[in-house]
Amino acid sequence: MVFALQILFVLALIVLIILFVFRISRTKKTSQLPENYKGVLTDYVKFYRQLDEEGKEKFEKRVDHFLSAVKITGVNAVVEDIDRLLIAAGAIIPVYRVPDWQYINLHEVLLYPGTFNADFDQSGSDRDIGGMVGTGALQHVMIITKWQLRQGFINSNDAHNTAIHEFVHLIDKMDGTMDGVPEIILERKYVQQWKQLMNTTIEQMKNYGSDIDFYGATNTVEFFAVISEYFFEQPELLKANHPELYEMLGRIYKITG
Ligand SMILES: [Zn+2]
Repeated sequence: MVFALQILFVLALIVLIILFVFRISRTKKTSQLPENYKGVLTDYVKFYRQLDEEGKEKFEKRVDHFLSAVKITGVNAVVEDIDRLLIAAGAIIPVYRVPDWQYINLHEVLLYPGTFNADFDQSGSDRDIGGMVGTGALQHVMIITKWQLRQGFINSNDAHNTAIHEFVHLIDKMDGTMDGVPEIILERKYVQQWKQLMNTTIEQMKNYGSDIDFYGATNTVEFFAVISEYFFEQPELLKANHPELYEMLGRIYKITG
């Protein structure tokens, strides 16, 4: 009898140990954040730096969630922790204040070493081809170069950030059409006003020049991506130079009412 009890006890102990080990391995797996994520985000991501502690924690969770949902693959490039974090930061910044946002139209980000040749998809190529959102066979794929990705965050005092630019294209694309109108996050009552404002500004850029990157005058798709870079990189400057655009972008990205 005593012997049977001993066996039972040992068995129970084994089960407990197995459960314990299993739990540890599961908790370990749930976080995709590399060890030094706080340091990297603080050093390179101005948007993150400017958040309070609670905001930072929310940002980190969103980054972690993004990294567990989207695969990042190097193409002739080594994907380092900083690249993973900067890609995720570029994804989260524009939708930080949009509740429950998920990039359901993105499965994989391909990281190239430098500016790539657009031979594989001329129509989808972007600016100096530092990034692009895939079409056709590359549906659900985004391509970005390591160099452009890093430059976008290192130079936080210009109005350029390739990662933000490409993620804004994805936000625009979420409603089925890439047209510069992110209908999924912009209230319907503002759609006409936004279209009009984009077209008038593009005309003004073409006729009189502008401090807005001229690539934005290509069409409304590029305008929306370029002006969003400006909005997130230099909000104060945009507010001073283009208050109407600032106000509409604030609505789109839920920063102002
Ligand atoms: Zn673009």
